[in-house]
Amino acid sequence: MRWTRTLIPTLREDPQDAEIDSHKLMLRAGLIRKLSGGLYIFMPLGLRALKKVEAIVREEMDRAGALEILMPALQPAELWEKTGRLTTMGPGMFKLKDRQDRLLALGPTHEEVVTDLITREINSYRQLPCTVYQIQTKFRDEIRPRFGLMRAKEFIMKDAYSFDTSADAADISYQAMYDAYARLFTRCGLRVKPVEADTGAIGGKWSHEFMVMADSGEDAVIECTACSYAANVEKAERAVTVPAPCTACPVVEPVATPNTRTIEAVAAFLKVPAARIVKTVIFTADSKPVAALVPGDREVNEHKLLRILGAKTLERADDATVARVTGAPVGYAGPIGLTIPIYADQALENACDIIAGANAADTHLLHVCIGRDARVTAFCDLVNACEDDICPRCAKPLRLTRGIEVGHVFKLGTKYTEAFDSRYLNEAGKAEIMIMGCYGIGVTRTLQAIIEQCHDANGIVWPASVAPYAVALLSLDPKDESVRTAVANLERQLESNGIDVLVDDRDDRPGVKFKDADLVGFPFRVVVGAKSLAKGCVELKRRSGGDSELIPIETAAVRIGQAVAEARAALNPVSAN
Ligand SMILES: [Zn+2]
Repeated sequence: MRWTRTLIPTLREDPQDAEIDSHKLMLRAGLIRKLSGGLYIFMPLGLRALKKVEAIVREEMDRAGALEILMPALQPAELWEKTGRLTTMGPGMFKLKDRQDRLLALGPTHEEVVTDLITREINSYRQLPCTVYQIQTKFRDEIRPRFGLMRAKEFIMKDAYSFDTSADAADISYQAMYDAYARLFTRCGLRVKPVEADTGAIGGKWSHEFMVMADSGEDAVIECTACSYAANVEKAERAVTVPAPCTACPVVEPVATPNTRTIEAVAAFLKVPAARIVKTVIFTADSKPVAALVPGDREVNEHKLLRILGAKTLERADDATVARVTGAPVGYAGPIGLTIPIYADQALENACDIIAGANAADTHLLHVCIGRDARVTAFCDLVNACEDDICPRCAKPLRLTRGIEVGHVFKLGTKYTEAFDSRYLNEAGKAEIMIMGCYGIGVTRTLQAIIEQCHDANGIVWPASVAPYAVALLSLDPKDESVRTAVANLERQLESNGIDVLVDDRDDRPGVKFKDADLVGFPFRVVVGAKSLAKGCVELKRRSGGDSELIPIETAAVRIGQAVAEARAALNPVSAN
């Protein structure tokens, strides 16, 4: 391909509305253009790279035995009513009506459609296990689309769904997808970390997110400084040391704390660290009040509380409810004397001589001893893990980092198959419910994550497996007949060896061509100029670094072909075996 025959609108300056490096670079390198908020057009180079990522994803899904299908993006709303998600997905789901006034949704995901399909088409244990996948456009009405393809309203996903006869068989399907994910992200040139994750609105029992670790990532991740433990901050656990029950704690003593409705105000007024105060938060779970106790320097993790309660909904209690259950205005709740269920963080078990709200206006209690004074329903993990907490696996310190979620694997269990009554006949002829798993990859997000991880001050540094073209062939003197001939020959030889090459044939200064080659990030740059050609040579340079080398023009195609093949093979754990 010739530069002058394609459309690569590179930009010198960083675009105004791009916040992170990968978004700036996708715009500057002419890979994408914005249509409107959260909607992007893939330009020729961006689309080439995207197709390469898709091809790797497809190969690894096929290798894992998944079957490719294609479901409609437009879905009847009745299917979503069956699982209750028409409501729980909320305003994030695009909904529309057809001319018969039937409600439809633009699919943000496809659990309902695929479970309906499998329920109709599979009825015997002989047809299981079955894993299907698709690579398809998804829609989400983001409140604040941003970071380019990272959080867009329309994006491409690979979603896969496994159906099995038993929990053990479902574990095997899950592991097959987990392993495929590890392979395909490696092949894309990404370093990813699988982290334990909360299953959130999609439901289910167990899941891992595949994270590209990056400071610009939107997801907070807790990882161990010593072992491989890593988890999404909402899911992460910590080890706590529970002290022995106290024996000689002073008696509880009320203290006047006027106008101290927050932990910070109490801490400042009494001149104690926030960690010495119990934070008591009243929630309404399925319309019943409960209290959560956490150390004053922590926040209640509502996902964890919801899970512990086994409730459908959980929200902060309104002021009237707080006043009713505590007998005090908001800001003075405490565990002593409450008659509603009390769930306390594990760090508060045997906590002694601490400060708590008195359930009376402008008053707190000193010398509270949780074991002695509070009627706690259960001690459990109720907070987010933080930097310097203790690893639950190896007791070394944890640290807080950030990541970009590019893939997610879930053990769903029977949430969807029960809603659709998806049954198969087992060997004894008995109808049993199917066990399901689901597995997503943000394909467009993965493309941008590659750039977020693989770039330098001069531009993108594409891994050879996904670069829009492996080789940029720079013609420095396009008016020179011998240069033109050498370039045309080399282009033809490389292409016939299966190497994709972009010839920069623009009538521009060499500096412009070098800058653009670095910006777009072709893994290999080959320079053909009148000067080196007079010595029978061309110049080969890797975008990832190292010196350029002069190579003889006669053997250049072979040498470049080898270099590209080596760079691709280095990223492929399958070919290396
Ligand atoms: Zn550890």
